[in-house]
Amino acid sequence: MSTINEKVRCLIIGSGPAGYTAAIYASRANLAPVLYEGIQPGGQLTTTTEVENFPGYPEGVTGPQLMEDLKKQAERFGADIRMGIATAADLSASPYKITIDGEKTIETETLIICTGATAKYLGLADEAKYAGMGVSACATCDGFFYRKKRVAVVGGGDTACEEALYLAGLAKQVYLIVRKPYLRASKVMQERVFHTPNIEVLFEHNTVGLFGENGVEGAHLVKRLGEPDEEKVDIAIDGFFLAIGHKPNSDIFKPWLETDEVGYIKTLDGTPRTKIPGVFAAGDVADPQYRQAITAAASGCKAAIEAERFLLH
Ligand code: NDP
Repeated sequence: MSTINEKVRCLIIGSGPAGYTAAIYASRANLAPVLYEGIQPGGQLTTTTEVENFPGYPEGVTGPQLMEDLKKQAERFGADIRMGIATAADLSASPYKITIDGEKTIETETLIICTGATAKYLGLADEAKYAGMGVSACATCDGFFYRKKRVAVVGGGDTACEEALYLAGLAKQVYLIVRKPYLRASKVMQERVFHTPNIEVLFEHNTVGLFGENGVEGAHLVKRLGEPDEEKVDIAIDGFFLAIGHKPNSDIFKPWLETDEVGYIKTLDGTPRTKIPGVFAAGDVADPQYRQAITAAASGCKAAIEAERFLLH
């Protein structure tokens, strides 16, 4: 690791609801927090459309607007918000060392990890082959390109339903490819999907490949894969959207912190404390259960309060 360039009391990694909320609380507690925004400034909500369930917005708010508001609120209290990605960590002893962009090393008394999670892919070779040519994990980023075209969304959770509904407003036809005979999404989202005429739900279908000359022109599916009556089905589509969940961004911390089998950082007794004193994890990187903006914000708040208490001792 390179030489120490800066020493801080409270370093926050990540700029989703957890990171910004931690920054609001830590700056109001005079911890002079430094926050690095990471790969996706504003986090996953910047790729979503309407957020209808964040308390305090009776009419809803767009994801990017909500994140901009949280950022401004943190800056109002003096949080030092910077662009940059944490590329290495040394948590072997306090103060902890975090490398930013592979070149600068910051030493910190307390660390709040809010690195969130990243969209998962099926792992098909064709996803890489058609990356940027019809394959996407973000409908709000790329949906615009599919106006009046045909698209498929893979997944049966809330994200998949949300993406399908968003795309249904743009595209001519949306297929929702669901591997089970039912949706996992909340009832309200299911109802919306079922009542949208240009969404067709393909239950018990798995995607095994994509095809097309200069970009995606269709997908090879298998209905009831592995069953005696399994059946090959091809659909013609121009866009293929993944919405099958997320992988927590915990890789650089894994040598030091305990994670579960998926990679979520394990915290102690419902708090954001990790087994390392002064190191906290908040938001989706440590939450396999709820993964909501409001729960992430709440855990960011708790982490900042924990950091403040830790520094008092
Ligand atoms: P989920 O884990 O809830 O759902 C993932 C979906 O993808 C499941 O239907 C799963 O199928 C499917 N899937 C996973 N792997 C594969 C695979 N290899 N092939 C095919 N299908 C696969 O993730 P979400 O991102 O949808 O949601 C995460 C959390 O965020 C949830 O708690 C959700 O409620 C929340 N959320 C809430 C929103 C809201 O309230 N507005 C909006 C978006 C998310 P299977 O069911 O078979 O496991």
